[in-house]
Amino acid sequence: MSILNDDIQYLPGVGPQRANLLKTELEIFTINDLINFLPFRYIDRSKFYTIAEVAPSTVAVQIKGRFISKQTVGVGAKAYLKALFTDGTGRIELTWFKGVKWINPLIKPSTDYVVFGKVSEFHGMLSMTHPEIEELQKFESRPQQDFIGVYPATEKTRKANINGKVMQSLMEAAFNKIGTNSIYETLPKYLLDEFQMPNLESTLRTLHFPKDLNQVSRAQFRIKFEELFWIQLAMAFRKQAHVQNAKGFQFVRSNDNLLARFYKEFLPFPLTKAQIRVMSEIRKDVESGHHMNRLIQGDVGSGKTLIAVLSMLLAIDNGYQACLMAPTEILAQQHAKSLQEFLKGLPINIALLTGSTTKKMRTEIAQGLMDGSIQMIVGTHALLEDTVQFKNIGLCVIDEQHRFGVAQRAKLWTKNTIQPHVLVMTATPIPRTLAMTLYGDLDVSVIDELPPGRKPIRTTMLRDSQRQKMYELIRSEIAQGRQIYIVYPLIQESERVDFKNLEQGYETIRKVFPEPQYKTIMVHGKMKPAEKDEAMQKFASGEAHIMVATTVIEVGVNVPNATVMVIESAERFGLSQLHQLRGRVGRGADMSYCVLMAGDKLSQDGRTRLETMVQTTDGFQLAEMDMKLRGPGDIEGTQQSGLPINFKLANLARDGQILNLARNAAFHIIEHDANLERSENAILAQGLKQRNTQSVSWRDIS
Ligand code: ADP
Ligand code: MG
Repeated sequence: MSILNDDIQYLPGVGPQRANLLKTELEIFTINDLINFLPFRYIDRSKFYTIAEVAPSTVAVQIKGRFISKQTVGVGAKAYLKALFTDGTGRIELTWFKGVKWINPLIKPSTDYVVFGKVSEFHGMLSMTHPEIEELQKFESRPQQDFIGVYPATEKTRKANINGKVMQSLMEAAFNKIGTNSIYETLPKYLLDEFQMPNLESTLRTLHFPKDLNQVSRAQFRIKFEELFWIQLAMAFRKQAHVQNAKGFQFVRSNDNLLARFYKEFLPFPLTKAQIRVMSEIRKDVESGHHMNRLIQGDVGSGKTLIAVLSMLLAIDNGYQACLMAPTEILAQQHAKSLQEFLKGLPINIALLTGSTTKKMRTEIAQGLMDGSIQMIVGTHALLEDTVQFKNIGLCVIDEQHRFGVAQRAKLWTKNTIQPHVLVMTATPIPRTLAMTLYGDLDVSVIDELPPGRKPIRTTMLRDSQRQKMYELIRSEIAQGRQIYIVYPLIQESERVDFKNLEQGYETIRKVFPEPQYKTIMVHGKMKPAEKDEAMQKFASGEAHIMVATTVIEVGVNVPNATVMVIESAERFGLSQLHQLRGRVGRGADMSYCVLMAGDKLSQDGRTRLETMVQTTDGFQLAEMDMKLRGPGDIEGTQQSGLPINFKLANLARDGQILNLARNAAFHIIEHDANLERSENAILAQGLKQRNTQSVSWRDIS
């Protein structure tokens, strides 16, 4: 057994207590874990600054100089220490609010010091709070490391003072123990050569004991590349295996019967170019005899429903049944309605199955699905229940797929002897880099064009004090026969408070817009399905002018006559959610408006989000921005995926280029050595096998 697997407890400088912290807080159990625990940035201690040249900044600097004076201010527990420090070019005030007793005696006159900390400005005076200080003589007597790594830390490890310096000394101990040439390379030599990457051992040494930043960035590149490469290699591998092995129902073009009739007699408008392209991609898949697993990405309003309809007709023409699954009851109902509308001239039996379907209906539907008299079914996750069995299901369309959990989707597979074809449709514009990581083994089609004639939605941000302006807009739009949404945020931790906000908002609106001239309804997730449906119906039919709601209306709701979307406390929503909400208006030919009501306390991030919303309506641009602001881990839909998207060093928001390189390299390798049988790829086959056990494949689940 390799020394790398030794317990860290026995490493000099660790011991049982620290070992325990490292294990429980940082998941560092072995020496191998330790040396693979990497700094995510570095503090430059190679340079000394003069006080004259420093400015307030979030980056810490170090200064050489002497103390002019020191003073304890206040008494008892609240006492703090203030000292004046100079290097001949200026003065800076150093302050300690904690550890005063311990710091005070360290500060001596006529002695040279090195101080290190972040500079800020207070009452026109430069200052540092809680700087590190050390006597210059002592400082210079130690071997100097110019760059100190900043390692991931938790509150507990910080409290226990496991800082960069401590980490560095542990790393030293670890590398002394393992000696040279004991870290196995994980990538083939030809890849290292091609991308001029250092080998793993030298990479790790550089990252823990960096000498210059150029070297660091090569080493970081190698780690990032590798993190992304393994995922892409696994995807490339699975994708080609799938193409080779997974059988699929074959839909034949000459069978087009209903589809041809639909195109000729009932298609209400010409398809957009993007829709035509996507349809031809789908046709190619289903005619191939292989199983289709395709993701359709299309912004809100890009016309995904029609794609679902056309694809389902293909299935039915070939003697199969088709289902369309939606994440919410409202959405399922709406889809059922759209389908009925689109297909009313054709002899197709469409059923709707949701949580609120009566028992009697359920039995009937189950029967119809078994005997094949129902060809098309729309529903929520109720479709996944074991009691739902098909005569011969050939296609499943899943709308807004990110809302379905992994296990739920897997259930779809049990519904026929061969997996039905799968089309997942998402309106969440996922940044390219994220899509390549999450869905890299799916085939992706993009509807990158909206149907013609849409007017851009005019977005404005208003503060609470400008509320009257919002009321004026509502009044004038209603006067023109239009309808209004007003949405309140819902944050689960305090549902009761949220609900109160919603109810208060509802009451206020009813005062400002009194009956009988105006009719306002309220819709929220807590309502019984029947109540909700009734309220929605009133809005859809135009009877109600204003709908006050929570985000239950976020996905899919389609009332083209609604032209104003007011979002209360808009700063509490994420960008992609705001975009989804805004997409509820602008669905007709009329000018539409989105009003973002911002609270008085607006954080920098909140302001940036809202300003971005005002500036652009492009979903992909917003998604990229969202990922930059929040980091990829928080983007909707990524958590359930089970794929690692929080890397040690790679960052999907910033490392798109590296991802491209890694992806191309991986797919190229598989293209030329599908089963990784060549000797130079043995190392990859082994690495893949090792990693395979740890990850979940999107392909397995959707
Ligand atoms: P989403 O992609 O958000 O699901 P929908 O499928 O609900 O979008 O389509 C939005 C609206 O655009 C619907 O009213 C739909 O009938 C209409 N639509 C779809 N395709 C076209 C088209 N090619 N030309 C004109 N209108 C279209
Ligand atoms: Mg839709």
